[in-house]
Order: sequence, then structure tokens, then C-alpha cells
Amino acid sequence: MIKPDRIVTSTCPYCGVGCTLELHVKDNYIFKVTSPFDSPVNHGNLCVKGRFGYDYVYHPKRVTTPLIRKTPQKAGERAQAFDLSEWREVTWEEALDYVADRLVEIYQRDGSDALAVYCCAKATNEDNYLLQKMYRALFRTNNVDHCTRLCHAGSVVALQQAIGSSAMSNTASQVMLNDVFLVTGSNTTENHPIIALQMKDAVRQNGAKMIVVDPRRIELVDFAELWLPLKPGTNVPVFSAMAHVIVKENLINHEFIANRTEGFTDFIESLEKFTPEYAEEVSGVPAEDIRKAARLYANAKNGAIYWGMGISQLSHGTASALALIHLAFLTGHIGRDGTGLNPLRGQNNVQGASDMGAMPFHYPGYMRVDNDENASKWEQAWNIEPGGLSRKLGLTTTEILSHAHPGGVRALYIMGENPMMSEPNLNVTREHMQQLEFLVSQDIFINESGAFADVFLPATPFAEKDGTFSNTDRRVQRVRAAHPPKGQARPDWQIICDLAQRIESRLGSATAKWNYASPEEVLREMAGVNVDYAGITYERIDKVGLIYPVPDITHPGTPTLFKEEFPRGRGKFIPLDYVHIMEEPDDEYPFILTTGRVLEHWHGGTMTRNSVLDEAYPEARVDIHPADAEIHGIRNGDPVRVQSRRGEVVLRATVTEKTSVGVVFIPFHFAEAAANLLTNDALDPQAKIPEFKACAVQVFPARENDLANPEVVVLRGRY
Ligand code: SF4
Repeated sequence: MIKPDRIVTSTCPYCGVGCTLELHVKDNYIFKVTSPFDSPVNHGNLCVKGRFGYDYVYHPKRVTTPLIRKTPQKAGERAQAFDLSEWREVTWEEALDYVADRLVEIYQRDGSDALAVYCCAKATNEDNYLLQKMYRALFRTNNVDHCTRLCHAGSVVALQQAIGSSAMSNTASQVMLNDVFLVTGSNTTENHPIIALQMKDAVRQNGAKMIVVDPRRIELVDFAELWLPLKPGTNVPVFSAMAHVIVKENLINHEFIANRTEGFTDFIESLEKFTPEYAEEVSGVPAEDIRKAARLYANAKNGAIYWGMGISQLSHGTASALALIHLAFLTGHIGRDGTGLNPLRGQNNVQGASDMGAMPFHYPGYMRVDNDENASKWEQAWNIEPGGLSRKLGLTTTEILSHAHPGGVRALYIMGENPMMSEPNLNVTREHMQQLEFLVSQDIFINESGAFADVFLPATPFAEKDGTFSNTDRRVQRVRAAHPPKGQARPDWQIICDLAQRIESRLGSATAKWNYASPEEVLREMAGVNVDYAGITYERIDKVGLIYPVPDITHPGTPTLFKEEFPRGRGKFIPLDYVHIMEEPDDEYPFILTTGRVLEHWHGGTMTRNSVLDEAYPEARVDIHPADAEIHGIRNGDPVRVQSRRGEVVLRATVTEKTSVGVVFIPFHFAEAAANLLTNDALDPQAKIPEFKACAVQVFPARENDLANPEVVVLRGRY
């Protein structure tokens, strides 16, 4: 048996559950991952990604030397370079000087609006805080965003409107206190596996009743009291019909509505049209099941709602989330332990990156950028002259790329994200990427987006850096280096600080601080203004994390929010209308495509497709219902061509009752059959989140040799 030199406690770099990892290290190599049984997050359990998915750290394709493209790239002619022979290895000095020169040249020529940055939901709080600071303090732009825009932006906007706070109201482990809970738009077993374990325990051990509302027959249905298999995009009528039943049958919590909410009278008028029969007509869910679900949830002692991106990734994602919020307001199932409104955040640190201000409308702590008082607090913290920070709302991720043209965004900096896999309508995304004048990629592999870059800055993965992640529970936890960086790779926070100092010297100013001794010093600076983190220190979270808000150094953390009031005062009912998905199926494109993740992979695949996990799930598959497969002459494993108005992919079919008749599902991790070639880039007008969860497609039988070969690595991302 191998004896480790040391065991380093850290936090999983994949999903928002934030499991505690013990990294067993021998000769500066992690050979095993375990988890302590006393971890309050995961109690010793890990899913396959946390247990085995760390090996990408040692993958031979990982880039550990700074690179500059051999052939200078021009706007309009930018091309991808996956092969190292197309890049020149350079020193850090040359790479950072080159980036600083080009960014400053473009800034001085075209101004703040010409620059934009993608922060990273996989990087630490400290990395994200510094990158948004660099763009705001030095380039005076709020063109700062990250992939929260692509996952829960609809939930964030809805919660901000109705409550004034956008994080989960309760912790995931409080599911053990629920007697009824509703899970919707979340294949929790595959996307938040450890939370799914707790949900199943709540049913088996405590007798809790679970209601699943989902178009797919996900694994949780086996444990559910009730499954409402709605047509994708019909959340608003189904949940509003539940609200209709709760009001008509007088199952409402009168005291809560009177004391804690506003807008009830207008709201109940708006519910008249949402009868269960109407909802059945548009969603396919039997009216009687909608009634049963409404009664079950409303009559619970402790009812809670957990949701995923099936709610938010729609062109009416904000309205979908509001429809859920109304259910909690009507019944008073919020503000107590074991209740709440709980959007399950996707990536390991999407909550933290949002908290750190990696968004175009907010500084750290969700302080609006267009508010003078907020801006002046950050001007003081960063030594900026009064009025110096931009009050103009920035562009979102999707808008940044669509503004990539002369007169718009000319230079983009991408830390750890992969828009060439994660944006909708990738054929158009590719055209936008090609229009950039200058592109920087700070990452660990040359992925489909980094392949377009002029400069590649090799960063360290989670196992080679210190910092913090904030999980979906709002729990801020330590990330610790297991061993020194490989090659010349450097932690993101150090790269950003070195680059920022170069930019400052070129701009002739030296204002904000960049010479931090450690990431802890970065967190302390941020917590000096962001009151939610004010009482968090590395010492206090050495063993277990703290759940923010932690307003002072003795505060124990806040697992349950809104016990007395909501941040906006009263919870606001907002009347809704049913808005259809932007592209309904028709004769030409008769199926609805819905996209998502599978257990073994993660997002654009930068980490998991360079891991042993790729052997466990090596190719893209499209799920199709047996009734549809029979009509189209498709057998399990057959190659099929899936086509939308925007693109096509060829992949194998899985014939399964996991999906509904008329609905096909493709995971979005596989570049050789990228689901986002098909998806619709229609946006929610408020949250600007794309409609990943529903577009119209056709499915045809294809030939074996039409399948893309995932082994031909250089073709990945070239479609
Ligand atoms: S459930 Fe999420 S955080 Fe836990 S091990 Fe799996 S991927 Fe990591």
C-alpha cells in the first residue's frame, strides 16, 4: 500500500455541492482522493468526479509554458490552433508584456467599451475578485461576466426582484428537515449527486414526500410521490396552476402573506387564467396531478423547493423562477429551517464568482455599479479618484461576443471558460470569436476557445493553488495546494497581479493594490467592503467552512436566511403571463431538444475529457423515446443526425424511456457533437440567459462514417 507524504484537505473543483476532498500526495503526485466522514457537506461521500476526476492535473496535453501564436491573428480571419507547433513558447515576461501592450493599446485607442473579460466559476474567489478589479479599476469597464449568465441568471434576476437576494435561502442538507419537497428542472442525481443522496435519504429514512416536475424520467422519479412530466418551457402555467389551486382551496398562509409580502391582490387576479385544465392543455400534465402537487406542498409543515437549469435556461427563465417563488410566498414555506427557495448552483464556485462581482451589473457583494454610494465605496477601497469607476452597466457574456465587431468589443480576456462549447448557437459564436482583434486565454488546456487566442497564459488547477470556493449553500471553504505547480504554470491570482502592475505602469498610474503576499490578503480586502464576508478569515474556515452572511468576526454564519424579513423588505408577488418558448416544434423540426450534463462529465469538457472519466463516458449520445425511435427507424446505438435551424451534429442514439415522447436530450460536453451547435440564442429579456432548454430539431438516421471521431483531437471544436 502506498503511504502518502501528506494528505491535503481541499474542496472539489467540479459541482456546486462543494464536497470536502482529502488529496493523498506521494512524490508531488495525487494518487488517491478520499473524504472525511465528519465533513458537514458530504459526510465522506463523493461522486465519480470528485473521487477519480483529479487526473487531468497530470494529463500530457496540459500546457505549462506561456505561449504566443506563431502566426499573428487578424480580426475577421482569426483561426483555431490546437497543436503546439502553431505556438511559440515564451517567458512569462514576454507573454505578460505582450498582453499588457496590446490591451493598453486597444484601451487608449478605443476606450473602455472595447475591452471585456470572462471571469471563471471554476477559479477561486480571490482569482475572480482580482480579475474583475483589474478590469474595473484599470480599464474602467463593467464588461465583466462569467458563466452564471448561462446557468442561473433567470433565477438570480427573479430572486432579486421578489426578495432582494439571489442565493439559496437554506442549505442543501436541510432537505432532511423537509416533510415535502419539490425538485424541478434539476437532474440532481447527475448534476448534484451528493445532494441527490440526501434527497433520497429524506424520502427513505424520514418519509418525506418528493414531487418531481421534469420533462425527463430522471432517477429521482423512482423515489417521488408524484412526477409531473411537463413539456419543456411550460413551467409558468404548471406552477401558476399550482398557485391557482392553493388560492382557490384556501390553502394559503394568511399570516405570512399579510405580514411578509406585497402585491397579493393583483397577483391573485392574474392567476384566474391559470386553471389546472388550462395548464394540462399546454403542458401535458394531468390537471388532477397538478392539484395533488399543490395540496401536498401547501399542506406540508416544512415544504421546500429545489431547482436547476430547467427553470432558468429559457427565454422566460425569470418568469419560471418567479412562478416558484410565488408558491413559497403563498404558503410561507420560507424563512424557517427545512423550507426555502433553493436554486442549486452548477459550478463549484459560481456562487463565489457572483459574490466577487464577476458580473456586469454588480460589484462584489451584489452592489449595483450604477449606484454612486456603492461605486464610491469601491473607489475608496481601490484608491480610485471620486467618480472614476464606471457607472455604466456592462455587457453580459452573450452580449460581449455579439458586440465583437469594429466599434464594439475588440479585446477579450478569458479565464478558464470555454464559450466555444458553452454559448448557444456555436456557428454564430465562432463568427464572433473570429472578429476579435485580440484574445487572451488563461487556462490549463488549449480548449476550443483558447485555440482562437493570441496568447495562452498557463494557470494552475485547483490542486496547485490556495484560496476559497463558495458552494451552493453559501458555504465559503478552503482550497489548498497539494503540491507545487507543474512546469511554469502559475496560480491565476498571481498572473493577474503581475499583469495588472504592467498595465498600471503603461497607463502611468499606480493606484490600486496588486502586491498581495497571499490570497488571504486578497480575501480580506474584498471582505472589507462586502459585508456578507466581513467575518470570514482563513483561520476561521481552516477546518469547516462558514455559511455567509458572516457580518463580524464572531458571527457563526447563517444557514437559514430571511427569518425576520427579506432584504427588500416584503416579498413581492409579480403577476405573470405564459410566454411560449421561442421555437415550438413543427412539421420540419418536430422534436424539442433539451440539453444538460451527465454524471461523468463537466461543462465544456476541458477537465473531464482529459481525465479517466472520459473512458467511463467516451462519446456523445442523444436520448430518444422508444415510440419516436420506432417511427423514425432508429435502434439503440444507431448513428443519427440531429438538425436544427442553426446547425447539425451526428452522434449515436440511446433509445430510452428516460426522455418523453417528442423530446430528445443531448449533453453539451462533447466537442465532436456539440449540442450548442443546435441550441437557440434567444435570450430572456431581463436576465439575458439563452434558451438552452428548448429548441426545435429533426432527427434522421445517419451512417457510421458520418460520426465524428473523438480520437482525432485536432479536430475537436472545428466541427
Ligand atoms: S457531488 Fe459535486 S462536489 Fe461532490 S464530489 Fe461530486 S462533483 Fe465534487
